[in-house]
Amino acid sequence: MGLGDIPELMKPLLLTKEQLHSMAEYVNSHAPLESCGLLAGRDATVEKIFFVQNQAHSAVRYVMDPIEQLNAFEWIDSNHMDLLGIFHSHPTGPETVSPTDIAEAAYAVTYIILARVDGEWRARGFWIEDGGFHEVTLLVN
Ligand SMILES: [Zn+2]
Repeated sequence: MGLGDIPELMKPLLLTKEQLHSMAEYVNSHAPLESCGLLAGRDATVEKIFFVQNQAHSAVRYVMDPIEQLNAFEWIDSNHMDLLGIFHSHPTGPETVSPTDIAEAAYAVTYIILARVDGEWRARGFWIEDGGFHEVTLLVN
């Protein structure tokens, strides 16, 4: 069975080490506040990361700056890519999505949580649907 036969929500997301590293650097520089951004690409391969201001300036939630988000969506459209993911940090954990994340999930994309565990940033992917979630594999090359 090829990747094309797997339902969209079960597909792993493909990222480079550099992309993962740049997200970790970004969220680390904003900790203890949560920070966030968008991932765009083609098929399941991430090609571009947007760092978006968290206008909530909060340690426990994020609200993407709507202008920056709109600009990113326009860039994604005009470059014929798709929105593949949304990332945000949990500077003090947990490693999985929170009830707020589930309640506020508005897009059919992979939600990446970067959580700081024992001083190290770890990234995990989740698909949120119907009030629940399951893990999406992050394939890092
Ligand atoms: Zn969260």
